Amino acid sequence: MEVIIVSGFLLLFVIFVLYNIISGIRIMTKWYFGDYINKYLLIAKIDPLYKAPLRKYSKFYQQLNPSDKTIFEKRVQKFINQKQFIARGMEKITDEMKALIAGAAIQLTFGHPSIYFAHFRRILVYPDNYYSEISKRYHTGEVNMGGIIVLSWKNFVEGNIDYEDGKNLGLHEMAHALRLENAITNEEYGFLDDDLLMTWTDLCYREIEKMNEGKSDFFRFYATTNSQEFFAVAVENFFERSQEFKDWHPKMYNTLSKMLNQDPLKSSRLV
Ligand SMILES: [Zn+2]
Repeated sequence: MEVIIVSGFLLLFVIFVLYNIISGIRIMTKWYFGDYINKYLLIAKIDPLYKAPLRKYSKFYQQLNPSDKTIFEKRVQKFINQKQFIARGMEKITDEMKALIAGAAIQLTFGHPSIYFAHFRRILVYPDNYYSEISKRYHTGEVNMGGIIVLSWKNFVEGNIDYEDGKNLGLHEMAHALRLENAITNEEYGFLDDDLLMTWTDLCYREIEKMNEGKSDFFRFYATTNSQEFFAVAVENFFERSQEFKDWHPKMYNTLSKMLNQDPLKSSRLV
């Protein structure tokens, strides 16, 4: 009897030790190789149904070099696999919608290969502006803390068609998601560099002040709403008016470029 009890304890002890060793290895592997695994071991190739819209409509994708294109495609596929797309006020979500929405997310995180907006599992798409019961207003898009990204397709497409006016709904909402993702406690927490964020915040408030005093108008006035809207508008301009942005305010442009770990003005995107 005693032998059985001792053996039982021994077995439990061995299981306990093994479990901890395996957990430890898993955590360390994620720490040291997380970025590497996510960047290079993207096994699934993109479904051709998603690749076609990227080739046709994604300016960002069109400008990538061939090896970056392959990484972008696989990351888009991985993003699509992880999310639930939900149609609201229309029949269904098309492959084109999925590809281009995922494309906007991967464009923003292209310099952060392990970031997939883990907190945001659901993407709601409306055909046009939609009425929000919470704000009692019509919206073009929003990102909420419950883990939902909402977009109006009409506005998303318009933002993509004119890729030079510094207005792009997809990039705007993904920029909100990026900042929230950075602040939410999960496996993707804190990927943005703290020192850069401090520099950015300082630049942001200085510029908002100038805009409010009527001394600066490079960004549209909506950017003065608060620091989050300022960031989202800056991201739109970073991609759509890169050279003008850099000429206008090199320090702000370079800070954002380092935060996102990419530079649209360089042929190899990653800095
Ligand atoms: Zn916004």
